[in-house]
Amino acid sequence: MLKSRAIVLHRFPYSDSSWIVKALTEECGIVSFIVKGGKKKESPFRGALDPLALSEVVFRQNPNTELQFIKEATLLDWRKDLRNDLLCTAKAQVMTEMIMRYAPQGVPLQEEFENLEQALRDFDRACGSSDATNANSANASSSARSSTSAESLSANSATASITSKTEQNASPSAALPTSPHATYKSNIFAQWLLDTCDMWGYNIDLTTCSRCGRTLDKPAADFFPETGGFVCEHCLGVDTPRAKAETLNGLWALHCGQQIEHPEFTENALLTYLRHHIGFLKEIHSIKFLNETRKLFDYH
Ligand SMILES: [Zn+2]
Repeated sequence: MLKSRAIVLHRFPYSDSSWIVKALTEECGIVSFIVKGGKKKESPFRGALDPLALSEVVFRQNPNTELQFIKEATLLDWRKDLRNDLLCTAKAQVMTEMIMRYAPQGVPLQEEFENLEQALRDFDRACGSSDATNANSANASSSARSSTSAESLSANSATASITSKTEQNASPSAALPTSPHATYKSNIFAQWLLDTCDMWGYNIDLTTCSRCGRTLDKPAADFFPETGGFVCEHCLGVDTPRAKAETLNGLWALHCGQQIEHPEFTENALLTYLRHHIGFLKEIHSIKFLNETRKLFDYH
C-alpha cells in the first residue's frame, strides 16, 4: 500500500456513479485512479478528489493495470481562495492540463509536484489577501462566476472548516506580503511557465542579448519567442521590435521579481516559446477557457 500527497489534475465521469481521477502524486508521478461511487453525495472522497485539491491518497499500485483503486483520500487543501478567483482558476487549469498531457508518464515527477504545489499555494494565498489589486480581481471574478461551467468551482461541504480559518486571518495586516513566499498574483503563472521551461530542458536566459552576448541591465529591446532569444537596444538598432513593450517589460519584471503589469503578454510569450520547443498547446483545451476569462477582465 502506498501513501502519497497528490494534486488532483483532472477527473471525468466513468459510468453513472464513478470517476476516473488523474493526480500528480509526490512519490509516483501521474497516477490514474478509478473511484467507484465517487459521484455519490455521501462519497467519503468527494472534496478530496476535486480538481486542484491537495490530498493525501492511499492506494495499492498494480503494475498490470492503468487504473489504480484508491483506498483513502484525505483532503489537505481545497484552495478555497483560489477557487473564488476565476482568472487564477483558469490559469491553474492550464497548468494542471499541461502537466497531465506533457509531463512524462510512469516516472516520479518530484520537481513537477513541488513547482505545481508552490504555484497553487501562491495563488491561494494571493487570492486570499486583500490589497487593492486583488480586490479588483475578486470583484470581477465574483460577477463573472455565474457564467462559468468550470466544475472545480462548485461549492463543497469540505470548505466549511477552511472558511472559518480564513476569516480569522482576514485582518488588514494580512494584505502585506511579509511571508518569505509572498508572490505577486500576476507573476505566479508566468513564473511557473519559466520554471517549467527550465525543468523540461528549455532554459530561457533572461539577462543576455542573444546576438552580442552583452548582459542586459534593463528590459530587452526585442524578444523572439520562437527561440527564446533577447536582443539588446544596441543590436536592435533602428529596427522595429516585434515584441510588444508589455511583453519585454513583463519578462524583465519576472527576472527582477517585480510585479508584472500586463501578465497575459508575458504568459503568452512563454507559452509560445514552449509550443515551439515541445510542439503542443493546440490540444490544451483550458487555454480557450483562459482566453475567454481574460476578456472578462480589463486588459488593454
Ligand atoms: Zn546585443
